[in-house]
Amino acid sequence: MSRGYNFSAGPSMLPEPVLRRAQEELLEWGGERASVLEVSHRGKAFVALNDKLEADLRRLLGVPSNYAVLFLQGGATQHFAQIPMNLAGPDDSADYLVTGHWSTKAVAEAKTLVKTHVVATGEAGKFTSVPERAQWQLTPGAAYLHVTPNETIQGVEFEEVPDVGDVPVVADMSSNILSRPVDVSRYGIIYAGAQKNMGAAGLTLLVIRDDLLAHKPRPLPNILTYAAHAKEKSLLNTPPAFAFYLTALVLEWIDAQGGLAEMARRNRAKTDMLYAAIDGSNGYYRNPVDPRYRSRMNVPFTLHDAALDEAFLSESKAAGLLTLKGHKAVGGMRASIYNAMPLEGVRALVDFMGDFARRHG
Ligand SMILES: *Cc1c(COP(=O)(O)O)cnc(C)c1O
Repeated sequence: MSRGYNFSAGPSMLPEPVLRRAQEELLEWGGERASVLEVSHRGKAFVALNDKLEADLRRLLGVPSNYAVLFLQGGATQHFAQIPMNLAGPDDSADYLVTGHWSTKAVAEAKTLVKTHVVATGEAGKFTSVPERAQWQLTPGAAYLHVTPNETIQGVEFEEVPDVGDVPVVADMSSNILSRPVDVSRYGIIYAGAQKNMGAAGLTLLVIRDDLLAHKPRPLPNILTYAAHAKEKSLLNTPPAFAFYLTALVLEWIDAQGGLAEMARRNRAKTDMLYAAIDGSNGYYRNPVDPRYRSRMNVPFTLHDAALDEAFLSESKAAGLLTLKGHKAVGGMRASIYNAMPLEGVRALVDFMGDFARRHG
């Protein structure tokens, strides 16, 4: 048996050196004579890990000092609900830009908590593009504007949010966090589940500006209050310790590779290669996304004849190219090529696609 190239959308491929190190350290972590799974989160070693995790994340992502960095649970989905709880009262308005599957889910979860307004939606175009800023109908006085800079299922991504004045921008970056440099100061909140580009499921990163943290728009239990988690430096209750540990290793790996600028360069190289193969296939393969908004992380594509899908999936799997089946909302295939996917993996996929097209005509 040998590891394949895993194109899963999430949980997804992790850097092999990270898995090897976790394997080596599983029985005895540091000088603890026990596994990281078995030590107290109040002990010196784990507190030091937590401090380093935060410091490394701040440095890599360039988080300004007036932001808190929280490591929470619940996945992005829980924060679809927890963000309106913390940022808005029941009578407040909150704006949502709808660009695909996940932003649609985000509005649905917020509906019972706040007056949601969709500022624009790409639904009429089947979410193959992002509505232009001129079409956005912002609500005056909205508590925040929620955006999803990378739609994992539709494969639509936009780089920076256009100017929207003073309204805090809340961004679900679950599937493109740490894939390129980001100007954090343009956001009120950036949040992301760890299992796509940052580590293991069970950990959710939330970067929040101090003034939003101080805001108390409704009574909330402590456990749901971001300020309470900030006060306890993410250790309000027992954290998912192994997920903290794995993300710390992933951050060290990114750092050693050259940081986010290098991640961005590699992700551009990988996607340039894959989109060129799709566009150069004379319609054998097709990606429907507006080229200005094609994702650098998730590349959906269809075959010219859906009857070939089964053969494509079984042959690619046999070639060690795993989990290429597309989401049912879009059909066809999807190659997720997060930071941990090496260029060689994409080259192997592109070679396979060319070979498959020749053999199946
Ligand atoms: C995967 C994903 C989610 C859902 O994450 P969970 O951790 O399962 O809650 C939300 N938003 C985006 C953009 C995603 O890619």
